[in-house]
Amino acid sequence: MNHELDQHDQHLDGDQLRAIFTQHGLRMTRQREAVYRALCTNRNHPTAEQLLAEVHQIDPEVSQATVYNTLDTLVECGLANRIPASTSGGACRYDADIHEHVHLVLDDGRILDVPQDLSKRLIDSVPDALLAELGERLGVTCSGIKIELSGV
Ligand SMILES: [Zn+2]
Repeated sequence: MNHELDQHDQHLDGDQLRAIFTQHGLRMTRQREAVYRALCTNRNHPTAEQLLAEVHQIDPEVSQATVYNTLDTLVECGLANRIPASTSGGACRYDADIHEHVHLVLDDGRILDVPQDLSKRLIDSVPDALLAELGERLGVTCSGIKIELSGV
């Protein structure tokens, strides 16, 4: 189990958080800390609006722009993933779990994480030959697999 998985499940003290930020080339500020903590705590793939509301409970001074900018920064640094609006049906959603995993999108808009072992089996089940053929036919290189399942 590596660092990023731990941070999702435990309460991090300031030093641990600072170390994670430093590892990803990011300076820790009060606002970044608040946004990241809110994202790590919320396992439901929240929208920026939901995170703003959570951050405001701790620090009402943080602006909407700061939350959006901070989320952009966290995604750029590899500390969070953005789930595009097109697939989740509404606003972009965010995920502090940066491990490769499959999402199951429910009719009511909830996004569930498929357990790590099942995610791996799903992703591994896509044949390399198929990816190679697809790459050839479209003239691109497939660099990764993102699988999204639907459910009720
Ligand atoms: Zn997820």
